[in-house]
Amino acid sequence: LYYSDLIDSSSLTNLISLIQPDEIYNLAAQSHVAVSFKNPVYTSQTGLGTLNILEAVKNSNKEIKYYQASSSEMYGGANEEKLDELSLFDPKSPYAASKVFAHNMTKIYRESYGLFCVNGILFNHESPLRGETFVTRKITRGLSRINAGLDTCIYLGNLNAKRDWGHAKDYVKMQWLMLQQEKPEDFVIATGEMVTVRKFIEICALKLNWNKSPNQPGIIWEGEGIHEVGRRSDNNEIVIRIDSRYFRPTEVNELIGDSSKGRLRLGWEPKITLEEMIEEMIEEDKNKVRKETLLLEKGFNIKNSFE
Ligand code: GDP
Repeated sequence: LYYSDLIDSSSLTNLISLIQPDEIYNLAAQSHVAVSFKNPVYTSQTGLGTLNILEAVKNSNKEIKYYQASSSEMYGGANEEKLDELSLFDPKSPYAASKVFAHNMTKIYRESYGLFCVNGILFNHESPLRGETFVTRKITRGLSRINAGLDTCIYLGNLNAKRDWGHAKDYVKMQWLMLQQEKPEDFVIATGEMVTVRKFIEICALKLNWNKSPNQPGIIWEGEGIHEVGRRSDNNEIVIRIDSRYFRPTEVNELIGDSSKGRLRLGWEPKITLEEMIEEMIEEDKNKVRKETLLLEKGFNIKNSFE
């Protein structure tokens, strides 16, 4: 491991000449959309940081292949159509705008200097390693804690937002495949299916066996808007509430991708289904909660960090 910073261009140039890498995968970003509204200037450095690496790659004596982590957030999600490599960008957050800048710069360096630079436009990708403030992990972790009696309720924002959620393991393989091509090109990576945050919660509740009998839901929804709540079916306790601080100044309502180009040209397809991914995330979070419970019993104080 080496220390560097995307904003420190001289450190990037030095590192690249020291390591002489064959491939660079730039996944660095302040990647939380809600946080990007609170720290827009800091988040914008994601774009400039990309330019710093591209400059270092251009000036290197070695031919280096470069992968840029582009994002489905760049599309803005104004309608339900499936988005592909030709769809227009309409960024709705400082995060998305900085990713559009990075995306365009990667393309410009490819076309202007003949560099092997590609953008992978990834739709949401999750795993047990997902940060605790992203909605999927917030739900799997929060409901696992409630299941173990460590918490009573979690607070969320827009339950009707829809996302095309895939497993990070499948997506990383595609990133590597993109750099093994003859010609540098951009690709969309997505499952092609989207569900609401609400549906994601309902699947989690079933995985936790909160339904009273098979074919019954694990969560019962009551009320509307800010007053809506979700009750566990097995004991009627309220486990989901809405808090307006999790609403965003502008929301990306729906994002669904069309990865036909990648499937055809790279022979890629996602192997892990949404149900399997949720099962894995719930199992891992249940294990972590078990360990936390043991530590609590031994008198350790564990900080909880929901956002
Ligand atoms: P994003 O798609 O990169 O913004 O990934 P997130 O996991 O942060 O959010 C996915 C969707 O879930 C967005 O439309 C959010 O508005 C919605 N959402 C609803 N409640 C929450 C919440 O409490 N936290 C987060 N992070 N997102 C939430």
